Amino acid sequence: MQTNLAPFIRDTPEGKEADAILRKCTHCGMCTATCPTYQLLSDELDGPRGRIYLIKQVLEGATPTAKTQLHLDRCLTCRACETTCPTGVRYGRLVDIGRHLVEERVARGPVESAWRGALNTVISSSSLFGPLLKMGQLARPLLPPALKRKVPAATAPAKPWPATAHARKMIVLEGCVQPSLSPATNAAAARVLDRLGISLVRAAGAGCCGGVSFHLNLQDKALDIMRRAIDAWWPHIEHGAEAIVITASGCGVTVKDYGHLLQHDPAYAEKAQRISALTRDISEIITAEGAKLKSLIPRQRVAFHSPCTLQHGLKLKGTVENLLGSLGYELTDVPDTHLCCGSAGTYSILQPELSQRLLGNKIAALQSGAPAAILTANIGCQAHLQSATDLPVRHWIEALEDSLTS
Ligand code: SF4
Ligand code: SF4
Repeated sequence: MQTNLAPFIRDTPEGKEADAILRKCTHCGMCTATCPTYQLLSDELDGPRGRIYLIKQVLEGATPTAKTQLHLDRCLTCRACETTCPTGVRYGRLVDIGRHLVEERVARGPVESAWRGALNTVISSSSLFGPLLKMGQLARPLLPPALKRKVPAATAPAKPWPATAHARKMIVLEGCVQPSLSPATNAAAARVLDRLGISLVRAAGAGCCGGVSFHLNLQDKALDIMRRAIDAWWPHIEHGAEAIVITASGCGVTVKDYGHLLQHDPAYAEKAQRISALTRDISEIITAEGAKLKSLIPRQRVAFHSPCTLQHGLKLKGTVENLLGSLGYELTDVPDTHLCCGSAGTYSILQPELSQRLLGNKIAALQSGAPAAILTANIGCQAHLQSATDLPVRHWIEALEDSLTS
């Protein structure tokens, strides 16, 4: 695709990056076939090719409108289009740049701005989110059914964190909502790794990865959160921690990007590169280390929901499925595994209608093979799916740890 970027952006780092991405796009349209929002809305501007065109226009000097913003807001950032694209267009990075530009030029109304600000404050702070969730859970039995579905029920409490101090150490990202929504997940990861001779360490002060703020277009705030996480992890890395283990693929895809996002910050660029290089989804660690867990697992029939951040963002399509299969699980067939469940960070709150349609389709696909449970790899998807099914929905590492214990 030919480009002619406007002078205001042409020579900036973002302009050069966007230009290189745009030039790779041949406008072939193959990506539209796998785009969830295009499938629902059948509007070219609600598919990747149309959105790329909108972003190109803004980069070339056109004035964005509220309509431009709406089409970009409707994008899930699921990156299914990246997986499909034959020329390797990095759509996810392009839409980040495009959204930032549009956000600076198109003012949102006061109510919407306040709502987005409040969402960012509450979700990215576990000390605010946790108590608010508890209050909601206490009131849950009294709520009307429509509202009740939106408040996740309390899940299993965390089992004890292993005390064993192994020579091998890895750091775990605690995250913002996961400690409240699913406290058992990181404890299960710690218990499984303990069996494998690895101590999982919690770094005080790391908290959120910055992904929520970044995708609400509060990018400067997000970069500050990322610097804080790096500061919290760095002493552990200097003391030999081998990896940063992530049990929420949505966070994993953000931390993997620290090196890129902080590349122009002289104080953090090098550290951020190292952090990204050390970041691993828990499935990568268990795949590499878990051979001795085989044959301990009783056979269970489960459906696996592969989060977009795992398959399209981290490019780990099939990793968990292969791992679970090799450990003795029976995985049911799930149609259209490439499609998003509609959770997508704050998307389920900000775009409820589209999100609910995607959720309905995903639940039907996951339940079509009559599984006994649904396993996944990202807390956002887990809570979103659980709101629409009576089957248990859990992180796969929790199910694995339970099997080992029993
Ligand atoms: S598939 Fe790739 S090259 Fe084709 S229109 Fe989509 S982004 Fe462009
Ligand atoms: S990221 Fe997902 S929703 Fe957005 S354009 Fe690509 S496929 Fe469509």
